[in-house]
Amino acid sequence: MSLLRFKMVDAAINHAAVEVKVPKGHPSEYFGEKVFNRAAMRKYLDKKTYSILLETMEMRTPLPREVANSVAAGMRQWALDHGADHYTHWFQPLTGGTAEKHDAFAEPDGEGGVLEELSGKLLVQQESDASSFPNGGIRNTFEARGYSAWDPTSPAFIVDTTLCIPTVFISYAGEALDYKVPLLRSISAVDKAATEVCHYFDKNVQRVISYLGWEQEFFLVDESLWAVRPDLMLTGRTLMGHESAKNQQLEDHYFGAIPTRVIAFMRDLEYECLKLGIPVKTRHNEVAPNQFELAPVYEETNLANDHNQLLMTVMDKIARRHKFRVLLHEKPFKGINGSGKHNNWSLGTDAGVNLLGPGKTASDNLQFITFLVNVISAVHKYNGLLKAAIMSATNAHRLGANEAPPAIISTFLGSQISSVLDKLAASRNDDDIRFDAKNVFRMSGVSHMPTLLLDNTDRNRTSPFAFTGNRFEFRAVGSCANCAEAMIVLNSITAAELTEFKQAVDAKIEAGAKKEKAIYEVLKRMIKACEPIRFDGNGYSEEWRTEAAKRGLDCETSTPINFDRFLDEHTMKMFNDLGVFSKVELEARAEVKWETYTKKIQIEGRVLGDLTMNHIVPTASKYEALLLDKVYKMAQIPELNAAADIELIKRIQDHTASIQRLTSEMTEARKQANKIEDQREKAIAYHDRVEIFFDEIRYHIDKLEEIVDDQMWPLPKYRELLFLR
Ligand code: ADP
Ligand code: MG
Repeated sequence: MSLLRFKMVDAAINHAAVEVKVPKGHPSEYFGEKVFNRAAMRKYLDKKTYSILLETMEMRTPLPREVANSVAAGMRQWALDHGADHYTHWFQPLTGGTAEKHDAFAEPDGEGGVLEELSGKLLVQQESDASSFPNGGIRNTFEARGYSAWDPTSPAFIVDTTLCIPTVFISYAGEALDYKVPLLRSISAVDKAATEVCHYFDKNVQRVISYLGWEQEFFLVDESLWAVRPDLMLTGRTLMGHESAKNQQLEDHYFGAIPTRVIAFMRDLEYECLKLGIPVKTRHNEVAPNQFELAPVYEETNLANDHNQLLMTVMDKIARRHKFRVLLHEKPFKGINGSGKHNNWSLGTDAGVNLLGPGKTASDNLQFITFLVNVISAVHKYNGLLKAAIMSATNAHRLGANEAPPAIISTFLGSQISSVLDKLAASRNDDDIRFDAKNVFRMSGVSHMPTLLLDNTDRNRTSPFAFTGNRFEFRAVGSCANCAEAMIVLNSITAAELTEFKQAVDAKIEAGAKKEKAIYEVLKRMIKACEPIRFDGNGYSEEWRTEAAKRGLDCETSTPINFDRFLDEHTMKMFNDLGVFSKVELEARAEVKWETYTKKIQIEGRVLGDLTMNHIVPTASKYEALLLDKVYKMAQIPELNAAADIELIKRIQDHTASIQRLTSEMTEARKQANKIEDQREKAIAYHDRVEIFFDEIRYHIDKLEEIVDDQMWPLPKYRELLFLR
């Protein structure tokens, strides 16, 4: 082991569990204590302001300027009382992650002292020079202003000593420059369309809410070891590393005992989350060594997404306190499972009815089937778009690449629901819809449906979009992604489908059909049309790839080409009609996606180049020189046979020569790609002509790792990185 590596491994072994900051009291006492929530608002705002603010939150309208000053004053006082001295507009730019610029509350009072200030103007709108955030050309350089304003549906909170105000981020002309704006628009779109469809079943429904429950998977590595792996530090994944003799074959990690150090970290993290109002609930080991999962109880989608964004930042901070680093990359290690972020999604009414859960009566169940069929039909029509929403340079390693499920979107419904839909599709109108003596609607297959679906337990883990009894679980979302990307598309395509559905049903009703019969007929047609998206088999199998292509599903594996789906004519029209994205916004987003893709691959290429030329080749050469010296000396003694050593030297020579050749070819390919102006073409060049070298170069490095003296190898090996104690 090299001296540096030895020191780091030694440090990692000796990192003891950090003392957990013991929470005072019970969760019920400290939950949300760092959030300007309703309880805090009631205390810090006058009655009138509070009631206007509540209405704003419920109706999801902008904060009226008249009350902004009083809200700001209350918020400031609450923050000061809770130890804050700075405030920031906290927003979600297209870089991924969150951005914040801190300002002190203290302002000169003009008389030599300072005053704590937070004016209403700052809540309603704040100008920020954000010219360095990606915007896909929306904000050209002479108009470098971006505006941010508080999103009152997401409460302000305190991190360390900073009051964070969740904000939207828009351009001078009102175009979205973040994830929150389109997410909020998609939430409104699905609310409107779903509420109208609900009125077929219940006239009293006022609002439909989109819910999200995310499950966050991640890896932990020891900080000392992380610090001597430039690839982990700079790209979030290992670009090289021979598989450990033992990894996940024994399946002994999943639900196994969580290591003490990790438990200490988790407890600290959970405490911090609860104080921030994130309702974390479950924690457990995942399948791979060093892989874990954390999941809260589901919440309204906008808030749930803010909480996920917040969690990702908070976990990074807390991990450092415990001498860990969190890896949110989808595939940090070759040969073992990657990480995802399952997005459990459902729609519910303001009266608390889950529209994706079966009910007790035939009417409840017709409503449930209506929503279920609309969702899968939307997913069928826009399967390529849904995939584009979760594709990225990093998630590509988890989807479609080696040792990963194919990048194809399909839905799993389970045998019970499948048979209900099949029965419905095969039924004949007049026999299957009946009204009993009391004129209560009856329908075969739908009248009696078990409220607890069997498939709730009998799940298909290989499906990217599975129905799990009362919600859909979108599993293809990447572990470091902003959930909004997937949720914007899901809410929007569902809204579009429900709108179309309602038009078709209304047309039949106008032509004289009874409501239930009209719904039934439209559903029947939809079930037949969207059949290709339904797949209950093994989504990871090779046969599925062939079958899916036959069914006409989107099987494109190239990430930059996937992004084209945002710009399809019918997609642009759909988003535009719903008011979620304008054409300009979509074009800008696609630009940013291509640009980000290119940058990620570019960085990986550079890091790989540096590592091969500065770490790997020199180390292998040193070992080779030792062997050469040995062989040279052996030649002096006729009884000795140096054949095996010569063989080894040849192998090292072959591998290092290949690495040098491939690295220089890769660098040349990068230079050529860099000359391309068009972002899409450039990203495609990086995908087709640069990235293809990575695995090949890695192959030779991993071979060398097996041959070269362990004492010389500079980088911590998988077996050292992967088994936390
Ligand atoms: P799993 O077996 O998939 O790990 P969990 O019990 O961990 O399931 O729950 C996954 C997530 O699904 C949790 O965040 C949970 O709150 C969420 N969830 C449960 N019901 C719904 C629902 N109706 N809509 C959205 N999310 C839900
Ligand atoms: Mg799950």
